Amino acid sequence: MRLHDIGSPPSVLRVLVIPVSVCTVLAGCAGATGQEKVLLIGLDGVRVDVLASARTPNIDALIADGTFSDQAQTRAPTVSGPGWSNMLTGVWSPKHRVMGNNFTGNDYATYPDFLTRLERIDSTFSTFAVVDWPPLGDTTSGGPLISDGIDVKHVVSGDALGYPHADSQSVDIAVEHLASEDADAAFVYLGNIDVVGHATGSLAPEYQAAIEAADVQVGRLVEAVRSRATYDQEDWLILVCTDHGRQDDGGHGGLSSQELTIFLVVSGSSALKGAPQDTPNIVDIAVTALAHLGVAVDPAWRLDGRVVGLAGSE
Ligand SMILES: [Zn+2]
Repeated sequence: MRLHDIGSPPSVLRVLVIPVSVCTVLAGCAGATGQEKVLLIGLDGVRVDVLASARTPNIDALIADGTFSDQAQTRAPTVSGPGWSNMLTGVWSPKHRVMGNNFTGNDYATYPDFLTRLERIDSTFSTFAVVDWPPLGDTTSGGPLISDGIDVKHVVSGDALGYPHADSQSVDIAVEHLASEDADAAFVYLGNIDVVGHATGSLAPEYQAAIEAADVQVGRLVEAVRSRATYDQEDWLILVCTDHGRQDDGGHGGLSSQELTIFLVVSGSSALKGAPQDTPNIVDIAVTALAHLGVAVDPAWRLDGRVVGLAGSE
């Protein structure tokens, strides 16, 4: 992998990335609807009732073209470390062993993030991640969750830059990558909503405004996907999800329904339309991403999630 610091200009990034074949042994090239691709957009700390109130035309458009649940579930502790671990590994805390925002003691070796798992299965998968909460991508808190085994990983410091700016910068990097590089599976993490939620509480207009600002970034990412020169030959599944909700005062970590209930979107031409029949769980995201990319989940991996929102999943 190549880890780029925030200061690296996009022109340098392009040079450093080694193109690999779009076709993979597992995913194939001759699908009826095109080469399967996944973009996962992670929005930290979104409460579903505020999402419903917010003006989010870009997320709404994804929902209209896929499966949506605002009753999906994560598990306690409802903090970011275990939440993102649940989502990206496809297993619950007893397996990945992350119970807080200190990632020391994790078992990501056994239960890696789905991008790393793809690389282990077939290194010709082109994998990408950009995060502005550094513990997800570097060793500052006993991580990283996303290993150095993926192709391209960017860590932007939200604390240093301020999260609104860091979110924009992360999306700038992702847009640049999607415009010019192979990308089979990509993860973009935006942290500002959670930071604002802690500062203002969940009922303040500033928190809703932060969700609306993130929706603008979602729109930029969707447009970047659709503007790819090879888009007509590709079958993109766009997943959007959050790691936990929050209490009225903005805090989270406990067992209230406001903290445990999350949303997820599974969108694209391969996605089922409407609400899922069963209540989805956060661990379904990684498994769904793998399924769309043609990976048959091996029971020996002991994943806890199941496929949601794709044909044959219900
Ligand atoms: Zn969080």
